[in-house]
Amino acid sequence: MATAGDLPDRRIHATHVLIGGCEPRDGTELVSPGPPAAAVRRNGKSAGMDAGNAANDASLGKEIVGRINELAAISEEGDKLTRVYLSKELREAGDVILGWMRGAGMSARLDAVGNLCGRYEAERPGAPCLLLGSHYDTVRDAGKWDGPLGVITAIACVADLNRRGKRLPFAIEVIGFADEEGVRFASTLLGSRAVAGTFDGSLLDARDRDGLTMREAMVQFGLDPGHIGDAARPRRELLHAYVELHIEQGPVLEQQDLPVGVVTAIAGATRLAASLTGMAGHAGTVPMAMRRDALAGAAECIMAVEQFCKADSAGLVGTVGAITALPGATNVIPGKVSFSLDIRAPTDAHRKLAVADLISRIEAIAKRRELSLQIDVTHENRTVPCAPWLKTQVAEAVAAEAYGVFELPSGAGHDGMAMIDIADVAMLFVRCRAGISHNPAEHVEPADVDAGARVLLRLIENFRPRDAGRAGKA
Ligand SMILES: [Zn+2]
Repeated sequence: MATAGDLPDRRIHATHVLIGGCEPRDGTELVSPGPPAAAVRRNGKSAGMDAGNAANDASLGKEIVGRINELAAISEEGDKLTRVYLSKELREAGDVILGWMRGAGMSARLDAVGNLCGRYEAERPGAPCLLLGSHYDTVRDAGKWDGPLGVITAIACVADLNRRGKRLPFAIEVIGFADEEGVRFASTLLGSRAVAGTFDGSLLDARDRDGLTMREAMVQFGLDPGHIGDAARPRRELLHAYVELHIEQGPVLEQQDLPVGVVTAIAGATRLAASLTGMAGHAGTVPMAMRRDALAGAAECIMAVEQFCKADSAGLVGTVGAITALPGATNVIPGKVSFSLDIRAPTDAHRKLAVADLISRIEAIAKRRELSLQIDVTHENRTVPCAPWLKTQVAEAVAAEAYGVFELPSGAGHDGMAMIDIADVAMLFVRCRAGISHNPAEHVEPADVDAGARVLLRLIENFRPRDAGRAGKA
């Protein structure tokens, strides 16, 4: 039985518990592990939560870390980790992962778009599945955890069930998406969009930096571009849910001193391109009061964005990440400045209101400074909320493993953004060092890998399909 005394090595962290709509179930209790005051939920005497549960070996994490390192060695560049869509190395990594899936007692195959699909059959063959996974492609000069951690951890959980000969009332499928990052063809989520049946066929003519089309690269990889539709899994009734474990890629869990976090939503994003036009002039001769300095105006706009977002307590973030000033000379007053603006928030309504407010602030600044303004939306992604019923189960699994339950939005995009079209989605974040990602310095502590795996295994073993829950309540 899991009590504080039984778990000397288990981290029980101080945090304020942010858990929406998830009341303690029978047999759970709120306990305080001591100063600083905090409430950490721990599993009580609920047989259902414990029977045959949890890994019987000491560490799921050790095997996972070993495989992370094994996969990181498969790269297009000798001293860096790069594995882009449809590369020879992606195929090589895919074959290794398919082998791990089979070793875990799953049937496994490469699908029509290059995704890796493994299935661990239910007690009753052909039953609907709980789908777990992440992506196995990487950015250039990547960290080794972004993507593969979710695939490898899911396989490790299935392997643990398989070792114990345990079957569940639902199947477990593990998917390794072949392209999430969108590095090679400048279009993200190719793998999950194919599974969701929303793959844009016109992308087959997109070219990589060497001029090769996606269509040609698919043939080289051993796929038939005419059969991408076969990857689609549009039958919602065969999918209970999609759950992804992923590194946080941000610093919040580290700040909270927690190994895992429950994702509330994958934040939508609006990107804008703004340009301010004033009057270029001589840096020595035009008096300050007579200037129409586009760069000084842009600086004021950037400060306004920062102040506005900082004043928001509901997760709004805004970034000006690129700026160009013309003519760009030391002795010339800047006449024209263009800058980007990226706005994200946990809900679409919040983001849209913020974008409208920010545009009007930028307009006011431009008007006061007598600058002409052009501002356009260049990209818009909807927010993908994690399904409350599923999020509750993720939170219960975190609590059952005696970690503080902490909710946070995902500011980064993930495959759930595509999977939402065919399944309810939830995510579990694992802490990464200093929030660094898309960088070879990306790091996850082995103890946190183990924590994530234990929580995922709990989630799987205690998983209650939504329809079963409804039937139970009826
Ligand atoms: Zn990722």
